[in-house]
Amino acid sequence: MNDNYYDALELSLNDWQLLFAEWGEPKFRAGQVSQWIYAKKVFGYHEMSNLSKALREKLTGNVLMTLPILIKQQTSRDGTKKYLWQLQDGARIESVLLNHGDHRTACISSQAGCPLGCMFCETGANGFKRNLTRGEILGQFLMMEKFNGSDINNIVFMGMGEPFLNEDAVFSAIRSLNDKNMRNLGARHITISTSGIVPGIEDLADFEVPLRLSVSLHAPNDALRSKLMPVNRQYSLRKLIAALRRYRERTGERITFEYALIDRVNDEPEQAYELGALLDGLAPYINIIPFNAIPSRPDFRRSDAVRVKEFCGVLSELKIEFEVRRERGGDIMAACGQLAGSK
Ligand code: SAH
Ligand code: SF4
Repeated sequence: MNDNYYDALELSLNDWQLLFAEWGEPKFRAGQVSQWIYAKKVFGYHEMSNLSKALREKLTGNVLMTLPILIKQQTSRDGTKKYLWQLQDGARIESVLLNHGDHRTACISSQAGCPLGCMFCETGANGFKRNLTRGEILGQFLMMEKFNGSDINNIVFMGMGEPFLNEDAVFSAIRSLNDKNMRNLGARHITISTSGIVPGIEDLADFEVPLRLSVSLHAPNDALRSKLMPVNRQYSLRKLIAALRRYRERTGERITFEYALIDRVNDEPEQAYELGALLDGLAPYINIIPFNAIPSRPDFRRSDAVRVKEFCGVLSELKIEFEVRRERGGDIMAACGQLAGSK
């Protein structure tokens, strides 16, 4: 970006207020412009009809409106849509839109690629390019709303990347999504999913937007988890669980855990007992996800119905709340862990 320009989606409400103050404009202009962009999805200054012509021209000359460019959109048999975007520097990322009746959930990316290399995840297998800016995070969501012509109800940071390795941009984007003068999306409609980055969990406990936290667990002990998710070597289960207990004490929030069942890797009934013991006292909610096949691990297969039932039987016996999720968008490689951003 040219240093003499601002970029609209990179500006928080406060940044807009400072800019308008500098230009001798009243503070409420910040709210007006934000309404056009975040509520009405109007991205051309010339269409912002409650601003003077002179101000619209000044905006056009000084504040770029950089949006992700849509390269490809695919629709799954179940109605799930996958979007491939190109960013300013050519980096490519993907986002997914899930339809559940009259509700829509956007699954968006926080990084181009991911540096954490989980064994079962296609994003991880494709390496890491860079962090996204707050504007690039918001751009995915706003463009999906624009293309769909209606509001999206929920946003989950479950696309490409680890949100807590790009915390400042993610938190800044969330503040704007939540801000009444901007997108006004309720905190309960925003979820961050993490592979278990402890400092991020600590910071989330103090974050002013009380959003939801989901933790990708996938293994009940350190030996297996370190193999499947190398990040576990840095933040062991002991450290992770301790951080989650503190998070629960400070926020009172319930934590969701993601556990993808991989045939004969993490789906033994003994492992379900181990999982129950690990999460004891945390009042966990577990999402049992079908493992989605990925090209880089042809040896990993989804557990069959009998094994899923056995595993879940143990969770029921332990009185742990869980839900077996349906796969969405698998036929277009839009399901969890399948986003690669390359084609
Ligand atoms: N990096 C964060 C956010 C990405 S969310 C995280 O890992 O939580 C992507 C979700 O899909 C995570 O819960 C991840 O563990 C899960 N996932 C990755 N690969 C998968 C696969 N092949 N099948 C099912 N779920 C997978
Ligand atoms: Fe990264 Fe999450 Fe995929 Fe692991 S599961 S490689 S942390 S995106």
